[in-house]
Amino acid sequence: MLKLSGVHAHYGHIHALKGLDIEVEAGEIVTLIGANGAGKSTLMMSIFGNPRASAGRIVFDGEDITGLPTHAISHRGIALVPEGRRIFPRMTVLENLQMGAALADPGNFEADVARMVGLFPILGERKLQRAGTLSGGEQQMLAIARALMSRPKLLMLDEPSLGLAPLYIRKIFQIVRELNAEHGMTILLVEQNANHALKVAHRGYVLQHGQIVLAGSGAELLASPEVRAAYLEGG
Ligand code: ATP
Repeated sequence: MLKLSGVHAHYGHIHALKGLDIEVEAGEIVTLIGANGAGKSTLMMSIFGNPRASAGRIVFDGEDITGLPTHAISHRGIALVPEGRRIFPRMTVLENLQMGAALADPGNFEADVARMVGLFPILGERKLQRAGTLSGGEQQMLAIARALMSRPKLLMLDEPSLGLAPLYIRKIFQIVRELNAEHGMTILLVEQNANHALKVAHRGYVLQHGQIVLAGSGAELLASPEVRAAYLEGG
């Protein structure tokens, strides 16, 4: 479904991605793990066209999307939930969902809201409440629901568990698993929480200084001594 070949990206003179090869098959959960500054967010952002890949190719659903503007990429069926959620705090929950729908086909708004309330019942209870008054975990659910309103084929989540209480962390990973297993959603997940992420992922990649240093199934990476030393045992 998604294939990156030799992708490089720069911020001015900073060479953030140094020739990455990554694949995500339809129906998979794939996770990217790595330390702060390894390039995980940049990788997701460059799939979304900002920063644009300075070399290499990004193919989605058989089409070369390298260099397309972000709105065109979003139209092809990729949605990104950015780090820090970026919901609209002064708008209600419902209005936030509307913003997600506005990015794609607004035709089926009512049905899509009902679908989201089915997935996240708390959002139904809080429909008319300002989003800024929700807890961190609820805001993360809203950010995911807003992204799903555009009916993406690929959902990219950047650090969805960041800053959440343990109860919500478990809940978010449960949602990731459920979206994939019960709704067939293909998911690319960036996480610092390597333990949780590798447990839900079919496959994973380890990024270090803008390069892939290790790849394998979630279970293989969980068992790998390098991963254990660097990311699971207080690393
Ligand atoms: P984190 O978990 O801290 O977000 P990350 O693995 O997602 O880490 P990136 O945010 O992708 O890492 O950063 C990769 C490199 O690019 C780092 O050296 C970072 O300082 C640099 N970088 C990221 N964003 C920018 C930006 N907007 N302008 C300049 N440099 C940036």
